[in-house]
Amino acid sequence: MTTAQHELPGYDRPGELPWATRRLVLARDGYVCVCCDRPVLGRPYAIHLRKPRHRGGDFSPENLITVLAECGERISVQRDPADEARGYSVPPGDDPAFVPVAYRNPAGHAVAWLLPDGGRSFEPQAAEGVVLTSEPGYFPAR
Ligand SMILES: [Zn+2]
Repeated sequence: MTTAQHELPGYDRPGELPWATRRLVLARDGYVCVCCDRPVLGRPYAIHLRKPRHRGGDFSPENLITVLAECGERISVQRDPADEARGYSVPPGDDPAFVPVAYRNPAGHAVAWLLPDGGRSFEPQAAEGVVLTSEPGYFPAR
């Protein structure tokens, strides 16, 4: 099954993630799980809301990451504090646009800020007054 066959849409339903946004996020994330770098096609996966809707999150690309279902379930139950530290979940008071995501890759992690147009930036996107910190062990963009 090709990617196109797998991902071609039916139609958008009210209140659900639009197909165009789903395709944008999948392409941005390279069709791999952000958390573990494993391919998602052919496996159960989700477009995960970093800030859930009941906390004010929406379907903007900077709030969405591609994850395998098992990774998304782990993030959703907040079992591993590293998930929030890596930007996979965003605390209620924070804006996903300003919380970087640690993309797993063979070298470790690449930290990226997600952009509203579906792109990524490897330069900090910080609101005024926000102090950015870097964590040891994170690698620059590959
Ligand atoms: Zn994963």
